Amino acid sequence: MINIAEFNNSSQETEINFKSLNIIEPILKAVEEEGYTTPTPIQKQAIPIVLKGKDVLGCAQTGTGKTAAFAIPILQLLSKDKSFTKKRKIRSLIVTPTRELAIQIEESFKAYGRHTGLKYTVIFGGVGQHPQITALRSGIDILVATPGRLLDLMSQGHISLRDIELFVLDEADRMLDMGFIHDIKKILAALPKQRQSLFFSATMPPEIIKLSNTILNNPSMVSVTPVSSTVDIIKQYIYFVDKGNKNALLVNVLKDTNIKTALVFTRTKHGADKVAKVLLQNNIKAEAIHGNKAQSVRQRALSNFKAQTTRVLVATDIAARGIDVDDLEYVINFEISNIAETYVHRIGRTGRAGAKGTALSFCDAEEKSYLRDIEKLTSKKIDIIDNHPFPLKDHNPVKTATSQGRRCSNPSRFNPSGKSSPKKRFGNSKTAWQAK
Ligand code: AMP
Repeated sequence: MINIAEFNNSSQETEINFKSLNIIEPILKAVEEEGYTTPTPIQKQAIPIVLKGKDVLGCAQTGTGKTAAFAIPILQLLSKDKSFTKKRKIRSLIVTPTRELAIQIEESFKAYGRHTGLKYTVIFGGVGQHPQITALRSGIDILVATPGRLLDLMSQGHISLRDIELFVLDEADRMLDMGFIHDIKKILAALPKQRQSLFFSATMPPEIIKLSNTILNNPSMVSVTPVSSTVDIIKQYIYFVDKGNKNALLVNVLKDTNIKTALVFTRTKHGADKVAKVLLQNNIKAEAIHGNKAQSVRQRALSNFKAQTTRVLVATDIAARGIDVDDLEYVINFEISNIAETYVHRIGRTGRAGAKGTALSFCDAEEKSYLRDIEKLTSKKIDIIDNHPFPLKDHNPVKTATSQGRRCSNPSRFNPSGKSSPKKRFGNSKTAWQAK
């Protein structure tokens, strides 16, 4: 049975700080050094439960502070037992779907655990395994891993999971989307039965609940802002534009110097390369990241972007998963995903932990129905920017077997001029964020 953690009393919530969550001094100090003053809602809920030794079923996406929600109590629980002063054994395993997420999670452990004396490492595929094996041999307490490389190094005898006390499965829904179910089952089979498990997923469809039942023992459920409402703090705008004019529109939009950096999403790897190329041709410093790029190239592009030496990072959805850039204010959907949840994940790269965020989406005639799905999911009408140099002309694309089914049932609502649309809330010559 699942216990629902109750944290509904907002006045009580405001009084909760890291100290009142009984966090030990070395971690409190590190959290302070990170500049965190108040725990986020998921941290308020999850930390006390994990510290009590209970299993957690967490419904939260990246951007909510969920990494610290599991990393802080894991560090605290492992710090209690000083056995790490002897030969270290891997006592906590965090499995996450992508390399970028894995790296970020390990960075979080490093940040929050810097005064605990615990040791960590991260392993992922796409790079040579020797440095990872050397790190493992030196003895670590906490391992962050992507599934493939973990199983690989287990099969070679470099990793044993028999001493795992705390297991985290992160982004479980993405794991299933990315086809990791068999890998997860193999990893589960190698874990000790006696352990504490934490399970995080942005969405909780039935197959995720089913999977969680095979992992968790009498868990408490913690949940923050369902996927559809996390977008509330992000300003969202739509540009209706013909497909062939999207590059020109992007260059035009990026003339705005208020946009210091922007993460641009394309549907395909090829598309990401093409957009980056066009931006470079227009003297806009841009790099593309996607699955075909070597890990080192992706990491370098990400570091350049974080350091703002690259202004625009163009990414596909999988490559962008887990990109966590503080102060990223602009996300641009160059192409709109046909999966509404993907839109929410994309724009969730901005507006992190309560910061400002703006999402601009370029919608061509074919993508109007995707937009409708997004507005349905988020229960929010996205403001239209109609006064731009490349208004949509191709209102009625040629009907094909596929496009027919996607056509908008109420085209007037999407009238780019906005004149007849009661939904239109924006329409001057300035861009939306200038007008706020
Ligand atoms: P996550 O959901 O774990 O990806 O975290 C999203 C972002 O929130 C990261 O940049 C964290 O550094 C930041 N963060 C996590 N916890 C807090 C907090 N309590 N206060 C402020 N920022 C936080």
